Amino acid sequence: MLNKGGNRDTTMMLMDRSVPGRVGVITPELDVPAAPLPDAALLRDSLPLPEVSEPEVVQYFTALSQLNFSIDTHFYPLGSCTMKYNPKVNDEVAFLPGFAGIHPQQPAEHSQGALELLYRLQGFLTEVTGMAATSLATLAGAHGELGGVLMMRAYHLAKGDTGRTKMGIPDSAHGTNPASAAMAGFDVVTIPSDADGNTDLAALREIVSDDLAGVMITLPSTLGLFDTNIVEVCRVVHQCGGLVYGDGANMNALLGRAKLGELGFDVCHLNLHKTFSTPHGGGGPGAGPVCCGEILAPFLAAPVVERNDAGQYTLAEPEQSIGKISGFHGNFGVLVRAYTYIRTLGAAGLQSISGNAVLNANYIMHTLKDIYALPYDRTCMHEVVFSADRQRERGVSGLEVAKRLLDYGFHAPTMYFPLIVHEALMIEPTESETKETLDAFIAALRAIDAEATNEPETVQHAPHTTPVSRLDEATAARRPVLRWEEPAAAD
Ligand SMILES: *Cc1c(COP(=O)(O)O)cnc(C)c1O
Repeated sequence: MLNKGGNRDTTMMLMDRSVPGRVGVITPELDVPAAPLPDAALLRDSLPLPEVSEPEVVQYFTALSQLNFSIDTHFYPLGSCTMKYNPKVNDEVAFLPGFAGIHPQQPAEHSQGALELLYRLQGFLTEVTGMAATSLATLAGAHGELGGVLMMRAYHLAKGDTGRTKMGIPDSAHGTNPASAAMAGFDVVTIPSDADGNTDLAALREIVSDDLAGVMITLPSTLGLFDTNIVEVCRVVHQCGGLVYGDGANMNALLGRAKLGELGFDVCHLNLHKTFSTPHGGGGPGAGPVCCGEILAPFLAAPVVERNDAGQYTLAEPEQSIGKISGFHGNFGVLVRAYTYIRTLGAAGLQSISGNAVLNANYIMHTLKDIYALPYDRTCMHEVVFSADRQRERGVSGLEVAKRLLDYGFHAPTMYFPLIVHEALMIEPTESETKETLDAFIAALRAIDAEATNEPETVQHAPHTTPVSRLDEATAARRPVLRWEEPAAAD
C-alpha cells in the first residue's frame, strides 16, 4: 500500500493516532467570567476526541488531500467532462471582496457593478451561441436542460398547442437529456444513430408529426462527432412545428467556429463549469445558462438582467417566463469566473481553445487507432471514443485498461459510455495539456496494450499503486463511512 509507515499512512485515522495527554492547540486564557455548564441532561457522558499534535493534524490532512486525482496534479482526460485547467486568475477575481462579499438581497442600486457583469456575460454567451437572449439562472447542465425544455413546453402551450407530448432524443445524446425531458412531462422517443454516428434522418422523419414538441441534440454528440445532418435535422423538426434543443455542454469543441443558433437550434444550455473554466467534479457549484432565439426569449427563466435608457441595470422577469428556477441570480461566483475567462482570452483566444481541443483529440485518435478499435473512423471533435474490444479478446476489459492507467499516473477516461459503443473508452484531452503530456499518455496506453498480451494479470488486477485498489463504487457513493467508529471492545 502506498504511503505505508510513519504519519503518512493515510489509512490510520486521527482517532487511532491519539495518545492521551498529547495536545495540538493552546487555548487562550479566559477573558470573560467563567459560567457553569448547561443542563447536564444536554451533555454527553463522554466525547472521544483525538489527542494529537498540530504537525500530526497538518500532515494527516495534507496527505489525505493528495490522495485525490485532480486537474492541478494530473492529466484528467475524462470524456464528456472537459476537465481542463482553470486559470487561477479567475478565482482571484471571484474572491475580490466586492464580488465575494455582496449579498444577493442587496438592492439593485447598490449592486450595479455585479449586475453589469451579469449583463455583459449574458451578452457574451448570447454571441457565442448565436442566439438572441440568455438567462444565467440555471445552476448546472442538467438544470439548464430542464429550464430549456420547460420553455419549449411553455411555447407550445402559449399557442394553444396542447397535443405535443413527445420529445425525440438520439441514442448518442447525453444521459441527462431523456431525464430532463421526462421531468418536464414529455414522453421520450429514442432516435437511432446511423452508421456514421449521425442522427438517422429516416428514423427522425418517422417520428415527426403534430405530437412532437421537439428534439434534444447533443452537439458534438457523445461519440465526439459533429452531426453532419444537423441542419437537415433542424429543418425537418421545424417543418412539423417542433423546436430543437441543443445540449451545448461540449462547446469546447465549437467555440468561435460554429454557433448553435446559426445551425438552426432554438434553445441550448452551456456548462460554464466545463467550457468556461470553473473547477468542477465532486458536485461543486456550476452554472448552466440557457441561451435561446427570438421566439423563445419571452419564456426564459427569471431573473434576466436588463439595462435601461439611463444606463442602470435592473433584474427583470421576461413576459411569459417559466418563472424562477433557482434562488437569487444563479451561481454568482461561477459567473464571475466565466466572465473573467472570456475577457482574458478575447474572441481569438476562445477560438484557439476549440482549435487545440480538437487537434489534441485527433492526435490521440491517430496515434492509437492502430491498437485500440475505433468504431467511428472519422475526424473527431473534442473527444475520441475507442472500444477496448481488441484488448477484451486477450482477456482485458475496458474497465481494466482504465484502471491500469491510474498506475501510470493518469486519470482514467470515461468508460462504458456512450452506451452504443461496446467497451467504450471515451478520452477528452482538452486544450490545456502539453504535447509531452499527451505523448506520455499515448505511450501508457500502448504499454498497457502490450501488457494485455504479455502479462494480462497485471492489467486485470490494476491499479496496484493507489492507496485503495478497486472500490465498490455504488456502496462508496450510497453508504459512505464518514465517521470514526470506536472499535468493538475485545473480551
Ligand atoms: C456534463 C454534461 C451534461 C450535464 O451537466 P451537469 O452540469 O453535470 O448537470 C449534459 N450534457 C452533456 C453533453 C454533458 O457533457
